[in-house]
Amino acid sequence: MRPHLLASSRLAVSTALLVLIASSGACADAPDPASVSRTSAPTSSAPTPSAPTPSADGAPGAADPRAGADQPIAPPPDGREAQAWRAEQPTLPEMLFMAGAAKQTLEALEISGSAVLLDARTGERIVQVDHEAKAPLPTQPWSPGSSIKPLLVANALRLGAIQDDLRVACDGHYEVDGQVMSCFSSHGELDLAGALATSCNEYAYEVARLLGAPALLRSLQGFGFGQDSGSLPAPPGPDDADVWAVTEGVGHGELRVTPAQLATAYADHLAPPGDPAREAVVAGMIAAVEDERGTATAAAVPGLRVAAKTGTTEGSTEGLYDSWLVAMAPAERPDVVLVVFVHDGPVASQIAAPAAGQILAAWSERQAALTDQAATQSL
Ligand SMILES: [Zn+2]
Repeated sequence: MRPHLLASSRLAVSTALLVLIASSGACADAPDPASVSRTSAPTSSAPTPSAPTPSADGAPGAADPRAGADQPIAPPPDGREAQAWRAEQPTLPEMLFMAGAAKQTLEALEISGSAVLLDARTGERIVQVDHEAKAPLPTQPWSPGSSIKPLLVANALRLGAIQDDLRVACDGHYEVDGQVMSCFSSHGELDLAGALATSCNEYAYEVARLLGAPALLRSLQGFGFGQDSGSLPAPPGPDDADVWAVTEGVGHGELRVTPAQLATAYADHLAPPGDPAREAVVAGMIAAVEDERGTATAAAVPGLRVAAKTGTTEGSTEGLYDSWLVAMAPAERPDVVLVVFVHDGPVASQIAAPAAGQILAAWSERQAALTDQAATQSL
């Protein structure tokens, strides 16, 4: 853990540099309900779970000190590669330029929502752009939906709760403690990267169940959620721990986060390169953008490798959704973490993802122009 990057100090910085922009306009395309994950009601005729039984090697146990009760979270190791990445210069993204690009994008797409930009290396220089179009934008924390999955998968790997070769067969239904949880599709057998690319719920259910409710709650605390703003879920009761875990594991439980908190969690736990768990998860986030099955293909930027994850939850208005896109770019050695949140609009793949792609494209073009300018001046 980088002690100078604790969430509390980070958020103090964010307040000082907050950019707040609001205007009015119209909003929203038609949503795609097929992309939204939901949980079903309990049933007495539940099908058998499709996920394979994990090997004993992949299960957490008392013999693994990393999963001990006194360890709230397993942070990414600050290894040689991470230290070299952090020392690279010049690396700071041009935050005010990006804030301008974010403002233009939110306006052009008639989004009621927010874009948060964060320096990936320091977690500082955080800028938030808010824009209110047709739908009002309440100032409140939100359910993260599937944007929570990469963080939890990384922590499950670091704690030894899963191995990076975990495969899960998704048939659209996942039974836990007599309840059937659903996936929005039948994805078939998926590996870790395929699961993050497609945002498969069944894979995330299995990860959350293997992680277990106590470690999952400690993970959420370790990510900085529930501090200063937002709220952690209440701990589960003795009889509903697994249902609680799989529900929180897909971001459809009681957890509430702000866009700045989500950006900070990614900067702390998924941006530093060189950690095997990070690299496995980021491979899935790259696939979300580059694989034809990916939910974040609209965030692709020519000439810039983007790692991204979508999230979609039900909005305040019938038939509309709240959606997220979290991106790190460049994926291998990120300069910037970008979070786009859209309130009461289409699903993430149709609005948050293209919005993030447009913001990152504007930045990438700017970087290319500056590089060309510097090359010309050096002739
Ligand atoms: Zn699935």
